[in-house]
Amino acid sequence: MKSKKPNYSVKMLPALREIERAKNGRKCHKCEKKPAVFLSHSQLYFCKNHFLEYFERTFMRTVRDFSLIKKGEHILIGLSGGKDSTALLYCLSSLKKSLPFKLTAFIIDVGVPGYCTNSLKCARASCQKLSIPLKIVSFKEETGKTLLEFIKGREEDSCSFCGVIRRHIMNRQAKLLKADKIAVAHNLDDFAQTTLMNIMRNEPARLARFGLMSGIVDDCGFVSRIKPFARLSEVETSIYAIFKNFSYNPESCPYSKNAFRQIVRKTLNEIEEKYPGTKKRIFAGCLVVQKALQEKYSKQGLKICKCKHCSEPSAHEKCKFCEMTESSPAFNL
Ligand SMILES: [Zn+2]
Ligand SMILES: [Zn+2]
Repeated sequence: MKSKKPNYSVKMLPALREIERAKNGRKCHKCEKKPAVFLSHSQLYFCKNHFLEYFERTFMRTVRDFSLIKKGEHILIGLSGGKDSTALLYCLSSLKKSLPFKLTAFIIDVGVPGYCTNSLKCARASCQKLSIPLKIVSFKEETGKTLLEFIKGREEDSCSFCGVIRRHIMNRQAKLLKADKIAVAHNLDDFAQTTLMNIMRNEPARLARFGLMSGIVDDCGFVSRIKPFARLSEVETSIYAIFKNFSYNPESCPYSKNAFRQIVRKTLNEIEEKYPGTKKRIFAGCLVVQKALQEKYSKQGLKICKCKHCSEPSAHEKCKFCEMTESSPAFNL
């Protein structure tokens, strides 16, 4: 039995499965309408409107519960053109109606042909639609090299390499734009994966630091990064993107590779399928553990100084960005 379906990427399959499961339900959990989606983790059926309401409420509750945004602040949102950051852009834009703050969007053009053109096009379209100013920064202008030149010889871990560079550029730009915080679209899946990875790598200090608002150490040049989607899963952001029907780039970066995270992601998805709600329980458990750990690490004191080469904040004399860019094979040619 084949029905007409738009061309969704493989990443959307779990979301489409939840939409398919709605056929088994009689009515929405909140009203008499036919359900449009079934959420396995809560075992609840929702019509389209009540799903959108649930999604935006969860986002707003996270902002409120963790005091992520205060009235009058300037928030910089990091866009990739993908579904998660576009969904966050829509939610932040709608939050502005009840909580006035300044919102600026930001995207790094990493210079990957095709992928980037599409990402930039989608980011521009969404920002234009919502009347949000967009700042585009070129990876090459910021670092002197393209991403491809940088990852040469380190393809196996290109994502964490690219991540360090992105964070560095974002932090510097946020200060230039006088932004108070940087909003990133990390969702529940990212959060649960990072929690497990930090445990498996035995890195409790990292586990203590990576919460919903990072950059707790004041006055060291770190602009706080906030994660208002931490309670929403990737399946939920996918359903939101499908229901809202906004334009986004469905492709992943063709160079995205992080072998370890991919294994954790796959395993966690398998466990979630068998035991729905696992990701949410990891999130809740992590918050409790983090509280205890933060106390321990705040007593020890986290020393942050400025990098001697670029003056950006760093735990060592030379920051990771400078360490990486100088040791990059592209630089040693
Ligand atoms: Zn309903
Ligand atoms: Zn540096």
